[in-house]
Amino acid sequence: MRLGVVGHPIAHSLSPAMVAAALAALGRTDVTYDAFDVPPEGLARFFSRDGFAGVNVTLPHKQSVIPLLDEIDDVARAIGAVNTVVRDRGRLLGTNTDAAGLVRALEEEGVVVRGAGVLVLGAGGAARAAVVGLGGVGARSIAVVARREGEAEALATDLAGSAPVLTAHGLDALARLAPEIDLLVQATSATLGAGAESFALGIPFEAFEKTTTVMDLVYRPRITAVLRRAEEHGLRTVDGTGMLVHQGAAALSRWLGVAAPIDVMRSALLEALGGAPS
Ligand code: NDP
Repeated sequence: MRLGVVGHPIAHSLSPAMVAAALAALGRTDVTYDAFDVPPEGLARFFSRDGFAGVNVTLPHKQSVIPLLDEIDDVARAIGAVNTVVRDRGRLLGTNTDAAGLVRALEEEGVVVRGAGVLVLGAGGAARAAVVGLGGVGARSIAVVARREGEAEALATDLAGSAPVLTAHGLDALARLAPEIDLLVQATSATLGAGAESFALGIPFEAFEKTTTVMDLVYRPRITAVLRRAEEHGLRTVDGTGMLVHQGAAALSRWLGVAAPIDVMRSALLEALGGAPS
């Protein structure tokens, strides 16, 4: 059985390390998992070949893969992105395990989403996955906050009905919304790069209750500037590695039809990230 991950670039992907460890633990020497570096112009050709049983799809292909598939499920349709493809009797089926991965990661940390007031920062694919996932497990309200308010509004319109109350705002609304928030999900890519510190400084952590949990979906660095500042303000934090493990585990379970070894995948991920396993 041939599996893999397709993206461009792909060298940075942590999925091969996680999946190799899982396959070894499961004794599946008959399964391979490779990283395929496929530029946008090569994507259609890649999916026209029948050499694989399943692939993970990562940047920049999560949306552009959709027209190349025979079918996508309701979750992928709602999120508007596919991160997992399964070949089933020759047909290519797309799904998205990010929403379920996020929910599992929070459950594992004991964070209660049912009835929670949630704030999602960002309006891209990860933010959509967060709204679908957290709305699906009973968040009381979800406020989507983005630097371009129009993008937050488009998300809220597309995903209307995902939560009893789903609202859209610009960044200037953060301090006003803060007191009602139980869970803040940082779903922008702003904590990845050079502007991470100034982005984190723009979040009014002092306006949140001390009971608020702050999760950053960015996992490299593991402790982002947002998580560090949230901790400094006495708030509880959850990093993005749990979501990455669980979205990968959900894809692997889907392909193999057995439960994936979560702890083995987590250890491999943390090792690949250079951190000590916790
Ligand atoms: P997208 O490119 O689809 O969206 C990025 C979002 O971040 C956009 O809303 C963008 O706004 C916003 N943004 C970028 N820079 C800034 C900034 N300086 N200030 C405010 N907003 C900003 O990316 P994804 O949604 O796919 O991914 C977002 C992050 O989530 C990634 O960094 C990724 O690593 C992480 N992720 C983690 C996963 C996990 O398993 N832990 C799974 C999936 C994603 P604008 O449109 O205005 O540029």
